[in-house]
Amino acid sequence: MAGLRETRDLIGRHGVRPTKSLGQNFLVDENVLAKIASTGGLDRNDLVIEVGPGLGALTRHLAAQAGRVVAVEIDRHLLEALNEALSGLDNVEVVHADILDCDLPALLRGWEGPVKVVANLPYYITTPVVMKFLEELPACSRMVFLVQREVADRMAAGPGTKDYGSLSVAVRYFADPKRVFTVPPSCFLPPPEVESAVVRLDVRPTPPVALTDRRLFSAVVRAAFGQRRKTLHNALGSSGLVPGGRDALAAVLAEQGLPPQIRGEALTMEQFAQLANHIASMKS
Ligand code: SAM
Repeated sequence: MAGLRETRDLIGRHGVRPTKSLGQNFLVDENVLAKIASTGGLDRNDLVIEVGPGLGALTRHLAAQAGRVVAVEIDRHLLEALNEALSGLDNVEVVHADILDCDLPALLRGWEGPVKVVANLPYYITTPVVMKFLEELPACSRMVFLVQREVADRMAAGPGTKDYGSLSVAVRYFADPKRVFTVPPSCFLPPPEVESAVVRLDVRPTPPVALTDRRLFSAVVRAAFGQRRKTLHNALGSSGLVPGGRDALAAVLAEQGLPPQIRGEALTMEQFAQLANHIASMKS
């Protein structure tokens, strides 16, 4: 496996010691790397942001297909090896920073073509990174993330399934999610303790329901799933989010056409958004 040999060589030459706390599990299977890059559907008009290029294995595939790659890496100990791996590629810019601190639109530096994100994410910050991209980079049309399999399942889950939860609803507000394929631990060096999967998010040009108060929407969704065995009426009734308490809530649910015994897990993202907008209108 060429990827494994090259990664081992780089690690040996530069004395790299993979840091577990930074989620450093390097992907070494060339077929998987090629499949992730092609899931991005890239061409030379695209700018791709990569989170955590590590030793550059995925970056090289992205650079071969996209017009420009901006790769944000937090670990300065990897930069020497990364620069060696990327030498000769003139369409890659490595930014040494914590992705969570980045001004994402500023990374585009006036790029006018399509923008995509492709990354083998450090699993310890999957949710904040995905939500940051969805919330702060509306210019992006597609995001492809390699994440822990359970998280991919939760992102892609639909109403009424066991994996459907607040992350599914939050992601669906911005994008159409699909779990594309799984990746076993043996494709990484060192192998992670969990199965992984690639999730593709096709970002909606505009959200399907305009939200009056996005924070209230998130709070309603979290309250509904915080006690998922309870009915929506009981879960939201004890949340303090609805002015007028349980009686007013019963009327709201009836007006939204939601049966009294319904659970949060049965609601679509659009129904949650309409419910949150209704509650917001009671506050104003
Ligand atoms: N892209 C490489 C690959 O596929 O082999 C490495 C992926 S590894 C799972 C995650 C990478 O993210 C590591 O290089 C790690 O140092 C980097 N990383 C961890 N936390 C980060 C952060 N907050 N901002 C930017 N990069 C981060």
